[in-house]
Amino acid sequence: MSRLRSLPRSHLIAALALLVLALYPLVQPHDTYYQTVLFATFMLGVQAVSWNIISGYAGYVSLGHSAFLGIGSYTVAILALHSGINPLLLAPLGGLVAVVLATLVGLVVLRTRGHAFVIITIALLLSAQIVATNWRSLTKGSDGITLELPPWSRDIQNIPFYLAMLGLLALTVIFSALIRRTKFGTGLIAIREDEGKAAAIGVNTTRYKVTAYAASSFLIGVAGGVYAYFLTFLNPVGSFSILGSVTIVLSAMAGGRGTLYGPVVGAFIVGIGSEAATVYGGSSSRVLIFGLALMIVVLFLPDGLLPTVQEAWRRYRPVDTEYTDQAGALEAGTLQVRDRALASAVVADEVEDGAEKRAGRPLLDVRSAAKAFGGLIAVDGADLVVRQGTITALIGPNGSGKTTLFNLITGAMRADAGEVWLDGTRIDRMKPWARGHLGLARTFQTTRLFRSMTVLENLVAPLPDAKWSSMLKASVAGHEADRARELLAFVGMERFAGQPAGALSYGQQKLVELAQVLMLEPRLVLLDEPAGGVNPSLVGRMVEIVRDLNRQGVTFLVVEHNIPMVLELCDPVVVFSRGKAIAEGPPQTIREDPVVLDAYLGDEWRPPALTGESAQPDRPQEVS
Ligand code: ADP
Ligand code: MG
Repeated sequence: MSRLRSLPRSHLIAALALLVLALYPLVQPHDTYYQTVLFATFMLGVQAVSWNIISGYAGYVSLGHSAFLGIGSYTVAILALHSGINPLLLAPLGGLVAVVLATLVGLVVLRTRGHAFVIITIALLLSAQIVATNWRSLTKGSDGITLELPPWSRDIQNIPFYLAMLGLLALTVIFSALIRRTKFGTGLIAIREDEGKAAAIGVNTTRYKVTAYAASSFLIGVAGGVYAYFLTFLNPVGSFSILGSVTIVLSAMAGGRGTLYGPVVGAFIVGIGSEAATVYGGSSSRVLIFGLALMIVVLFLPDGLLPTVQEAWRRYRPVDTEYTDQAGALEAGTLQVRDRALASAVVADEVEDGAEKRAGRPLLDVRSAAKAFGGLIAVDGADLVVRQGTITALIGPNGSGKTTLFNLITGAMRADAGEVWLDGTRIDRMKPWARGHLGLARTFQTTRLFRSMTVLENLVAPLPDAKWSSMLKASVAGHEADRARELLAFVGMERFAGQPAGALSYGQQKLVELAQVLMLEPRLVLLDEPAGGVNPSLVGRMVEIVRDLNRQGVTFLVVEHNIPMVLELCDPVVVFSRGKAIAEGPPQTIREDPVVLDAYLGDEWRPPALTGESAQPDRPQEVS
């Protein structure tokens, strides 16, 4: 009983609804009309929930998803015709063929980002219809395929189909829920929110998207097999209809795209509503009503019905006031940095230590890297070596190409020329996630957390290696969640684990983003302006965290304008100007180097006193 109580209420409601719907035909066995309407609604539910995996979770909208229903139908009908086996037993094969086709199509279009996918999904639907019409030896063309009637009594004609489709709907919801719980599912949301960022934290976006597309086709294909037998007659126009696809999209959007139950709710509204429209208005008015409904949903319920209702309920019954208090406390600096003792155990002889590290082996080696944007040369044959164990600074005026260099190193952008080596491996041709798996991590100048996810979910989104088993691990449970909580505690943000990342202050987001990339167990972390725009008390914490990690063996390359912080924390310091390094050395040399003073620090600048952690943000003059 206590376990039951710990289940979310939505699951209990769903289980109850399932029970009622399963019992309904047993109570009313002869009411075939309502059974048929509900059968069609369940089938729409299977499709909308499946569609939601690629188009809701991952955000890649498919406008031709009913193709998989037709593919499943044809596969099962053809096999049944030739083998004599009952189509219900063959239905899983319809799913398999759908998966194979989805994988092939996905491998071609999902390597890239953007709108090509939408177009191709429609093309898939239309070409499937053309193939079904013209491959007459297999499909009998537009004459269609007729299957044998089911062997059971006419009295219960619909009940087996009804129960099979209801079972499939339940399976689809469970399948979708399981996906959502894994790191794979979290990665799909990450792709929807910020695909470039997802790639930077080890998410193999191509693999994720293709897998999601294939997964979204499977149970639709199975449902297609059941549907073929239910109809006992198939033709190309009926099996591959664009209206079918539009209905799927409408259901998912009306109910709540990206949520677990939204597409189910939407399917019931659209399924039953479209039947009512046909009864009261005829089939042509149905199309009109669909069009209007789609417009209303897009205009007035962009998030869908379920999220809108949930949001209204939350506002009606606010529970969580704790969060704002915590945020206030942190901003006021009353929360203490954890493990201050550890942080203050600064290595005694830092200068000697730095000298020794400067002689370490090169961990990162950038050779003659170049990148131009049109006529603007952002990185101009830059060379840069970051040695193992150092905290290397990269300073330089705004626009000198530091962030672009980071993009070339991490693979967010392709270099025009040059090479990047990480610990003896050439990485400049690798995908960003492959570089992440080798232990290369970065944070962004403007933080790029997944704002709709909680802080904890943000932490479990990164994928540290290329293994399938890692993808399928539970995300917000078990080992992953433990490690994420540990890292959140390390950066002093554990109390925010359950809050949406978008609600944090800028400095807090920077700390969470650092904790996030630490989930990759990186060897080298690139920090892009970690103190930029951050409250000074959080800057102090950032400095302590970087030092602490460095002592544990993590190497850093830090872009930062806060010169006192740089001089205190980093050794060596590399100075960048107009797309290449112009000076490099220990901080005490750099701050007196006339070339550096001239190119970067400006006439007004005087070497600051090396203060403690309360370094003030101190933007240098910009040199254009
Ligand atoms: P920094 O990080 O040192 O301030 P950036 O690497 O961001 O410098 O920018 C270097 C130059 O490249 C700037 O002139 C900037 O406007 C330009 N730049 C950076 N990214 C892009 C881009 N995606 N498209 C066009 N120009 C860019
Ligand atoms: Mg920059």
